[in-house]
Amino acid sequence: MNIIFIAPPAAGKGTLSDKLVSKYDYKHLSTGDLLRAEIKKKSDLGKRIDKIISKGELVSDEIITELLKNELQKIKKEKFILDGYPRNITQAKTLSKLFAELEISDYVAIYLDIKEELAMKRALGRIICSKCGASYNTYFENFMPRKEGICDKCGSELQHRVDDTEETFKKRFITYIEVTSPVLDYYKEMNKLQIIDANYESDDVFKVVEQILDDGNVDNK
Ligand code: AMP
Repeated sequence: MNIIFIAPPAAGKGTLSDKLVSKYDYKHLSTGDLLRAEIKKKSDLGKRIDKIISKGELVSDEIITELLKNELQKIKKEKFILDGYPRNITQAKTLSKLFAELEISDYVAIYLDIKEELAMKRALGRIICSKCGASYNTYFENFMPRKEGICDKCGSELQHRVDDTEETFKKRFITYIEVTSPVLDYYKEMNKLQIIDANYESDDVFKVVEQILDDGNVDNK
């Protein structure tokens, strides 16, 4: 079953996606990662995207949908996790059309419900490998790198994301509430929504995700 993660910033989408990729061979499609890769290229588009992300605002539907469409077409019949899209109702409707064109019908939208204070702590402590994208957290013992500032996996330097400041996090959280959360009703009406309480350690939340994949249902709320 394909998965769409819908969640406020720093709710654990990336960590859960990594676990799904290593255990079940999912393809991880993160729109945030696609945008950050574009920024790294230092193209004109990348520079425009950089300014938007640094302010904690959403990139235009046109830009992000074009990037995503290319990636979805490449995936073909592989199982995938969509992390970071849809971020608003327009994107949700566009995604339904894309799925229809690509004949994708086996999917679940998983909402990771998390308290704002915990999500903020995760965001402010988050450090990412500049090379392989592995994620660590200086505020949670289980998620600290073995050597300070260095990636366990590839030895590269760890950095904070430009949008993981307190001010930008708060803005992103409000955007989530106002613009993204209506997407939950869209999937609820389609009978595709599952809700997970994500205020726990990622291993425990992962078990609930696995339960959804096994039974197609969950009841931890
Ligand atoms: P994320 O890595 O999912 O936290 O995304 C980081 C940033 O990328 C967001 O704060 C947005 O600025 C931008 N972004 C990611 N996905 C989307 C999307 N579907 N629509 C618009 N902007 C997005």
